Amino acid sequence: MVSLRGAWSAFVLAIVWLALIACSASAFSGSNHDRATGAALKGLVSPDALEAIKKANKAVDDPKRPYSGADHCDRNPGVDDATAFKNAARRVRDLKKQAIDAMLGCGTEDALKAIGEALHTIQDFYSHSNFVFLTDGEQSAARAAFDDPDKPNKPVPKSLKLTGYDGDPSKPLYDRFNPKDKDGKRDPYPHGLEWGRHLDKGPLHRPLRRLTPGDGAKPVTRNGVTRPAFEWAMEAAQKQCRDFTNDIASAVGKDLWDRKLANYHFLPPSPKSPSVGDRPTGYNREERVSEPKTRREREAPAEP
Ligand SMILES: [Zn+2]
Repeated sequence: MVSLRGAWSAFVLAIVWLALIACSASAFSGSNHDRATGAALKGLVSPDALEAIKKANKAVDDPKRPYSGADHCDRNPGVDDATAFKNAARRVRDLKKQAIDAMLGCGTEDALKAIGEALHTIQDFYSHSNFVFLTDGEQSAARAAFDDPDKPNKPVPKSLKLTGYDGDPSKPLYDRFNPKDKDGKRDPYPHGLEWGRHLDKGPLHRPLRRLTPGDGAKPVTRNGVTRPAFEWAMEAAQKQCRDFTNDIASAVGKDLWDRKLANYHFLPPSPKSPSVGDRPTGYNREERVSEPKTRREREAPAEP
């Protein structure tokens, strides 16, 4: 009887412990894409425009969307770092042009969609690369190359690495996040976590999941300030997202930009026909844990 009670107490304690773990882990849930976008565009776009941009951003991680490594700044098997980086940077450049053209025409909705998609790729860059660990000079060079991917005088720094990800949906999830080369050797710098390389701020409580630990908790010191890699990645992503959107506003003309956004009204999707942006997105750790198939089945994100 005593031993039964003891077993019961141990069971109750285990449940409480698991609940505590769930609570602490839930501090990481929520969309880091939303967090980065909201902070980056503060005061720059109307609340309705922000909603449309966030929706388009998260839709990039929708599992129904055809996978492209450039959308997520992934380095796919057989592609080198510089090529993968340039593919993503070109995509962002093209989306910027699309957004400007749409804004100057009658396509505010299309412009906001293009901005949201571009911000996704920018945010994934900081989450799917070793940018935060580069020197100041290397970071400046990487940023210049991102803004102007086809200028030979703005080469991609050789030290820049993107995380490896295999977009083949027929492969097991683990092999997609930790790809193998044609000789069966594991990628030396894999995407690793389902949630992105720098998102893992603390220890993982996932004993049953074979996830590569992320390096988001790793302290990085810049100009005498030490913060976790995750926070540096988030801050750098926000800066580029703001610069990107400011460039579009300047090209369109601030008056026209403000006027068009003031006249734009975001229509929330009807609950009967959920749109892609309503689905769980890659950065939401808790949603992904309980529902791993909804992660980009192709990509499986990281924000940072
Ligand atoms: Zn992504």
